[in-house]
Amino acid sequence: MNKSADFRTLCVHAGELKDTQHGGATSPIFTSTSYAFNDVEIKQYPRYFNTPNQRGLCEKIAALEGAEAGLIFGSGMAAVSTALLSHLSSGDHVIFQDDIYGGTRNFIKREFPKYGIEFSFAKGLDSSDFEVEIKSNTKGLYVETPSNPTLKITNLREISRLAKSKSLWTMIDNTFASPVNQKPIAHGIDIVIHSATKYLGGHSDISAGVVLSKKSIIEHVFESAKNLGGNLSEYTVWLLERSIKTLYLRVQAQNNNALLLSKFLQEQDWTEQVYYPGLEDHAGHHVAKEQMSGFGGILSFDLAPNLDAKKFLLGLELVKPTMSLAGIESTALSPRLTSHALLSEDERQAQGITEQMVRFSAGIEAIDDIQRDLLQSISKIK
Ligand SMILES: *Cc1c(COP(=O)(O)O)cnc(C)c1O
Repeated sequence: MNKSADFRTLCVHAGELKDTQHGGATSPIFTSTSYAFNDVEIKQYPRYFNTPNQRGLCEKIAALEGAEAGLIFGSGMAAVSTALLSHLSSGDHVIFQDDIYGGTRNFIKREFPKYGIEFSFAKGLDSSDFEVEIKSNTKGLYVETPSNPTLKITNLREISRLAKSKSLWTMIDNTFASPVNQKPIAHGIDIVIHSATKYLGGHSDISAGVVLSKKSIIEHVFESAKNLGGNLSEYTVWLLERSIKTLYLRVQAQNNNALLLSKFLQEQDWTEQVYYPGLEDHAGHHVAKEQMSGFGGILSFDLAPNLDAKKFLLGLELVKPTMSLAGIESTALSPRLTSHALLSEDERQAQGITEQMVRFSAGIEAIDDIQRDLLQSISKIK
């Protein structure tokens, strides 16, 4: 597969396996956990991340991100934890963006002290907010943009410039953008992580994660990955490959719905504020326009002060009030009651998470039906 083919073509064809036996149109699935040892260069084994389906899928996702290589994991957190642990030793220090995914935050706070790894959270999104936290033992910078749930935008070129000037590595959790909307390696970021449970899977039925980078860095991550053992089962590898064939179409439809919905919500008297990087009054709009090719399928909004967010969510009939995001069906939640419930009130306030906030993950349904559902729920609680 020619790596310079159009993104849409790569979604369908990059990394596909040939069915040499029957000439079928889709990749065959190889479920063996035991392979011949005498006629192959490298031993093939699922936990070595090198079975035929694993290698095919890595090639596909790497092509989409413009990366040389990648590893597929059993969850987004397996990808996050393995990428970080493979790059940190006792006595090292790493700087995180403050509003990162809750699971990543819990991982750092609970596990890093056991290994003697030090960490700080930058107090803002500017590269100067990261720079003031740099110490003599700092090894890397970790960002997530757009962030969850207020869709803040971090300037990838500035972060990468700072890191290069101080010889630090950079990692990004690119889950919210998906490679359709943002390709961080092109902006100088070293390592890209995805929870493939979200847009890459896209149907709310797959748990998986990915780490992508240069070949030498992926070989380094692999040395830890094979010990930590977070590989993904062949069945799910195959299903994820199948799902990514429609990634471009799905995410374009989700981008469109999120933009239309955010403009619709801005006009309503029952909303207080709308957070979406595609809106011109969003603080990160100009940076988002430079580094993203679409603004993504997630938005958040604050209901007017007299309206109860939980009642609003429970009154929805089409949109599902569920925990996760990025599926082809629209879903919504209250960050305060669910995804960010483990944070302290102070931490939530620092990230701008209000009691009235609803996080909305746009699906691919007709926008009129989504809007009608929101309106009928509002009319019940008004
Ligand atoms: C869901 C999510 C993760 C964790 O992924 P899992 O597949 O649940 O382990 C990490 N980062 C972001 C931004 C996420 O949304």
